[in-house]
Amino acid sequence: MANGGPVEHGFPHLETVREAVTALYRRLSYDTVRTFSASVAPADVAFCDTDDLYLGTQRVAHELVRHYRLPDARMIVSFREMTHAANVELTAGPEYFIELNDRFRTHRRDIGAALAHEVMHVYLHRLDLSFPGTRDNEILTDTATTYLGAGWLLLDAYRQDAASSQKLGYLTPEEFGYVLAKRALAFGEDPSVWFTSPQAYTAYGKGMRRARQDEQQPPLTAAGWAGRRRYARERRHAQDAPAAGQAADVPYRFAPQERGPLRVSFPCPTCHQRIRVPVRGRVRARCGLCRTVLECDT
Ligand SMILES: [Zn+2]
Ligand SMILES: [Zn+2]
Repeated sequence: MANGGPVEHGFPHLETVREAVTALYRRLSYDTVRTFSASVAPADVAFCDTDDLYLGTQRVAHELVRHYRLPDARMIVSFREMTHAANVELTAGPEYFIELNDRFRTHRRDIGAALAHEVMHVYLHRLDLSFPGTRDNEILTDTATTYLGAGWLLLDAYRQDAASSQKLGYLTPEEFGYVLAKRALAFGEDPSVWFTSPQAYTAYGKGMRRARQDEQQPPLTAAGWAGRRRYARERRHAQDAPAAGQAADVPYRFAPQERGPLRVSFPCPTCHQRIRVPVRGRVRARCGLCRTVLECDT
């Protein structure tokens, strides 16, 4: 887990974040994802500077192992001086060695956040789910941590004041907010009440606005007027000149058929798997991966 440096903002990793959500549904199935309907509770990972360091760390690690349902996994946590925030050795188990940066000795309230990410590495390792390259794999880990209910801790560890700033993980605060919002929309949960950091609260708001935009893209009926007008223009273009190229700045694509009606594909607003429906007015589709019902006006 990375540590320090200037805090990056916005949504630079959004494409990989969305691929990570799709990969999670594919690997776990809808039913398993649904078993994570409850997030890690604040009281279960609370850790104050008067708690015993080692007992407290073991307690929080155990809580995360329980949350991710890793029954026989045992986390052995130690502290040392290092450039990274934290690290885990991915072995066959059942014991896994996690190292935390020495600074957590005096920043105990963020130990839960660091462990949420490191224990997720173990979870994904056991699932044999990874993305190629360190960058993408870290994005997958942060996204999975957040989507499965422990990532609000990582966003809440983001704090900024006149003297210092701190952020954990590879995603920007807004991207953590985005994944958290996607989880909130899918599970009917409100994580904003758990934040202790005002910056985390703001980033969650920005992430939620972005997540709502996913639900308002044509051909979904919730799309706005301007989007629908553009959609109609692109559709006409695809019908009149099927061989011509299509706009790259919209999430939907038209696919002309040898026979039968034109088809349109677009990303599911929940899991981002691509959905294909015929172009014939009002269509109701159901995503086969995350089971979201999609009301479309094609
Ligand atoms: Zn990591
Ligand atoms: Zn879906």
